[in-house]
Amino acid sequence: MGTVRTRFAPSPTGFMHLGNLRSALYTYLYAKHNGGRFILRIEDTDQARYVPGAVDVIYNTLRGIGIRWDEGPDIGGEYGPYVQSERKDLYLPYAKQLVEAGKAYYCFCTKDELDERRAESEKKGEVWKYDKHCLNLPKEEVERRIAAGEPYVIRQNVPESGEASFDDIIYGHISVDCSELDDMILIKADGMPTYNFANVIDDHTMGITHVMRGNEYLASTPKYNLLYEAFGWEKPVYIHMTPIMRDAQHKLSKRDGDAYYEDYISKGYLSEAIVNYVALLGWNPGDEREFFTLPELEKAFSVEGMSKSPAIFDPAKLTWMNQQYIKNLSEEDFTRYAMPYYKQAGVDGMNTSILFKCLHERVDVFTAIPGIVGFLTSLPDYDISLFTNKKSKTDPGIAASVLDLAIPALENLPAWDETAVHDLLLGMAQERGMKNGTMLWPVRIALAGQEVTPGGAIEIAMLIGREESLRRLHAGREKLREAGY
Ligand code: GLU
Repeated sequence: MGTVRTRFAPSPTGFMHLGNLRSALYTYLYAKHNGGRFILRIEDTDQARYVPGAVDVIYNTLRGIGIRWDEGPDIGGEYGPYVQSERKDLYLPYAKQLVEAGKAYYCFCTKDELDERRAESEKKGEVWKYDKHCLNLPKEEVERRIAAGEPYVIRQNVPESGEASFDDIIYGHISVDCSELDDMILIKADGMPTYNFANVIDDHTMGITHVMRGNEYLASTPKYNLLYEAFGWEKPVYIHMTPIMRDAQHKLSKRDGDAYYEDYISKGYLSEAIVNYVALLGWNPGDEREFFTLPELEKAFSVEGMSKSPAIFDPAKLTWMNQQYIKNLSEEDFTRYAMPYYKQAGVDGMNTSILFKCLHERVDVFTAIPGIVGFLTSLPDYDISLFTNKKSKTDPGIAASVLDLAIPALENLPAWDETAVHDLLLGMAQERGMKNGTMLWPVRIALAGQEVTPGGAIEIAMLIGREESLRRLHAGREKLREAGY
């Protein structure tokens, strides 16, 4: 076989669902793994379902995850144009070719006529399909009616018996009885191709060798194959992907509002983590590896590793993976991603190196930052019971004496830097034979007003600065005094 050519062929009908993203990713990976070309084609024949801006979402999502197409609407290529609405004059001649060969025919049935016959057949308890009413119209009559300007469609002439089948790499042999297939419309009354027809013509004329897409197209594929046979064209290899499920019963659907790529990005997920997670939803490398960059995926991906059963989307696993990626960010990258959330929390003026040190192993999604650092800008109202900690050997009474020691010493400290504060506090603890924790716990509680904090007493003191630290330490001492300590 020549060069592998795969395509991602989205219809611009909305945002990029993680399922669409996975289709794009696998299609891309298959091409790249096999030294082939990845093509982007926009399937916009159904203008009624067109959502403005959706094409940009497709571009932005693919670019966001690092997928580059070799041919596509914006960059062109040998087989262009790559937008179906720009190819509309190309389809009718193919339909006429099928009419000549008796594999398709003109149909003049009006909507009213069809409705009436459908109602009749339903009354008889039959499942309606087009009754080939116009199949045998004499050629002259067809020509006369077309010339007279009567509206028409062109329908596929599906054999009345026999089977239509194909072999899918994932699903195996799929076949349907032709008697169950409708004579589907290929060209609509407005001259535009139907989605199904354009899809087949484009795959063939763009030289697509491997068709990879969601399994919702499994049922239409036998019908598509009849068209390949009618034209005498070589069929592509079909690789239908198993669905992504929300749980054992339900497919992840567009209604699962949060299953969109852009939503995850705006919720503070890293695109590298999303790609890594989505790649593993329905594919595995055959070993224990779990972390992959896009180039690593290009190397490792194979159809053999694609799962034959549906994958269940686990948001907690995605969040876990995101945390692993965040942990590995450099200080510079972490700060760049975190900055909008620092601004939101009002901590953007604080020392970003210390923030990085305190946060990067703790944050699982960037949007969690304001909640984690909120205490830095406003001291929570806390209870003195927080001064009690068994392991650090403190209680409110001990905390009161620790603060009595620490406050004047800190007030007299000439420099407010990490080493100076550290040496001062730990030096005092050592002098008095105290555990470090006995000194640091009360100071940290007074500085933070909460038990769990990113970073310890000294880091917090650096972040909020001398003045605010001393204010909070005094306030903590005062709180204890009011309680009788
Ligand atoms: N345009 C179809 C969609 O957006 C894809 C069809 C295909 O890949 O063949 O779902």
